[in-house]
Amino acid sequence: MRVLSGIQPTGRFHWGNYFGAIRQYIDLQDEADDAFYFIANLHALTTVRDPAELRQLTLDAALDLVALGLDPDRATLFVQSDVPEISELCWLLMTGTSMGLLERCHAYKDKKARGVAADAGLFTYPVLQAADILGYDSDTVPVGDDQVQHIEVCRDLAGSFNHQFGETFVMPKAYVIDTSARVPGVDGEKMSKSYGNTLEVFEEPKLLRKAIMRIKTDSRPMDQPKEPEGDHLFDLYSLYADDTQRDELAATYRRGGFGYGEVKKALAELAVEFFAEARDRRLELEARPETIRQILGDGAAKARAKAAEVLARAQQACGVWSSG
Ligand code: ATP
Ligand code: MG
Repeated sequence: MRVLSGIQPTGRFHWGNYFGAIRQYIDLQDEADDAFYFIANLHALTTVRDPAELRQLTLDAALDLVALGLDPDRATLFVQSDVPEISELCWLLMTGTSMGLLERCHAYKDKKARGVAADAGLFTYPVLQAADILGYDSDTVPVGDDQVQHIEVCRDLAGSFNHQFGETFVMPKAYVIDTSARVPGVDGEKMSKSYGNTLEVFEEPKLLRKAIMRIKTDSRPMDQPKEPEGDHLFDLYSLYADDTQRDELAATYRRGGFGYGEVKKALAELAVEFFAEARDRRLELEARPETIRQILGDGAAKARAKAAEVLARAQQACGVWSSG
């Protein structure tokens, strides 16, 4: 199993990113023969247009991932732009990609529908994503269900290239990670950086408590019983609670006579505690920036060696001259 996944440095990581993606990456680093994780700064460039901010978010993402348990001895961690071979591979794939295929991709359609002006980078994003996957001979791509369509595009592109030029790319599969962990935001909608409803993994405990107190709840009178199912505060609590704690809260909901404030306080305590160790590790790493640079440098060297091999294979297959 050769696992690959990328995560965009478009903002600070939130609970949805952690439970929906990062936690699974960390679990997979032990199961996989090879696990490649990259910080997708080229993809992020379609949304982050401030150079200092992009640089900082890229470094922060690396610090966050390592602090949360991504282990550079067991997984290869690197920054997307450190492997220029992927951008070359992207062009080779771009030439065989139909416009219609990209027009149907929902990430593009959604952003366009929300009135975000689309540039060619956003439109062709799935092709770069395909190059990211195919460039490392990855066979397993852990994604949330919102990304399954892009993996299908990748398989399409790999399939037609292989069909036209002979077996070149390994056919990857989406490894859909636990979608029950679709984390709601403070407003009850899906937690998302672009919806501004996030609770951040590395938020200051004080500010996190404040943000949690602002979670929207209904105006149910306190003494009335309530079904825990479908209640987003209950769902958020369940992320951190053990079975006993969750069952107890479910019983409290059904019994009635409780205030949401108490639940929020309990949630804040559990969440702060849950990330306490990672927060300490992050502070340590932050104080030694050369460590993270070394990790990313080593990761890039390893990733480049693999990508160069795949690029050469693809160039040879389609007749693009390579004198090297
Ligand atoms: P954006 O609003 O820019 O799309 P985002 O907050 O949705 O940002 P992404 O960068 O799209 O975050 O997602 C990174 C990873 O986190 C993906 O694998 C995605 O499936 C997962 N993820 C994001 N939000 C949630 C959520 N609320 N619940 C579960 N998983 C999530
Ligand atoms: Mg998203």
